[in-house]
Amino acid sequence: MTTQGKAVSELPPAEHPRILVVDDQPTNIQTLYQILKGDYDVSMATDGSQAISLCQRRPPDLVLLDVVMPGIDGFEVCRRLKADPATRDVPVIFVTARDSTEDETLGLEVGAVDFIGKPVNPPVVRARVRTQIELKRQTDILRSLAFNDGLTGVANRRWFDERLQVEWLRCRRNKLPLSLILLDLDHFKAYNDHYGHQAGDDCLRAAAAAMKSRLGRPADLLARYGGEEFVCLLPETPPDGARAKADDLGRAVFELGLPHVDSPTASVVSISRGVASAMPAVESSPAELLQRADEKLYVAKRSGRNRTES
Ligand code: GH3
Ligand code: MG
Ligand code: MG
Repeated sequence: MTTQGKAVSELPPAEHPRILVVDDQPTNIQTLYQILKGDYDVSMATDGSQAISLCQRRPPDLVLLDVVMPGIDGFEVCRRLKADPATRDVPVIFVTARDSTEDETLGLEVGAVDFIGKPVNPPVVRARVRTQIELKRQTDILRSLAFNDGLTGVANRRWFDERLQVEWLRCRRNKLPLSLILLDLDHFKAYNDHYGHQAGDDCLRAAAAAMKSRLGRPADLLARYGGEEFVCLLPETPPDGARAKADDLGRAVFELGLPHVDSPTASVVSISRGVASAMPAVESSPAELLQRADEKLYVAKRSGRNRTES
């Protein structure tokens, strides 16, 4: 866990875990609020649809959910949270007076992780909540380790491959263009040879952070593709926009001004870019798009480096 420990320390600073309490009876909400407010950031909803929209806007770390409510009941709220990728990972505990085996089975089937009986017992609430919050924290760390690159903290190739598939299908459905930029640091072997592997690692981190800071839209993604190669996924972006973004990422690296005395290209670290765009259609594929970006990157390398080819 030594190198992976780095990724953990790059997680956002710890804040109070956030809990959403959902109950149509304000007195029940008040009771849970009093029990939890010391250790958690507690917010509240008094009906199912409000609960769902709060979760979609900013997923909490845990939902305490009443079962019997007018309108959308607790089981249905849970079902909808589990059906939406944006809220699927939020754990749900039912708080309910209904303790029949059927109710419990149904609750587990729709995706709840635990039950708390009504009327609530404060030590039981605290203990069950603490357990689920700790599990959630560990799951978040594992997910971050699985999908982030340990060295640079940007997404890894596994996450990029997943997003590429999803965005390809989304752009195909909506008849929108999708672009890719492949980026490869110039003469990076010489950089390592001159400055050492540790400095090489620092350079990779700095380049990744500089490029990431230039991405504006929520769906834009920068990932480490391997070694000293990065990839940028730009959904809903036509060729001219992608080309401009590639130039921008190139400038971001160049303007770091990291000295590279052994580079025949420039006196500082630079990066070459290959761009490809597509209107995702049935007959083309993400692999083909990657292939085209790779060919453009090769042209950029051949024709002088530190440039965009598209
Ligand atoms: P070009 O401009 O043609 O891309 O030349 P290059 O030297 O960058 O390309 P080449 O593929 O020959 O060498 C890539 C080098 O990148 C090899 C290795 O020393 C370095 N490298 C790859 N991954 C890492 C890493 O994780 N850390 C460090 N420090 N160096 C790495
Ligand atoms: Mg290189
Ligand atoms: Mg390379």
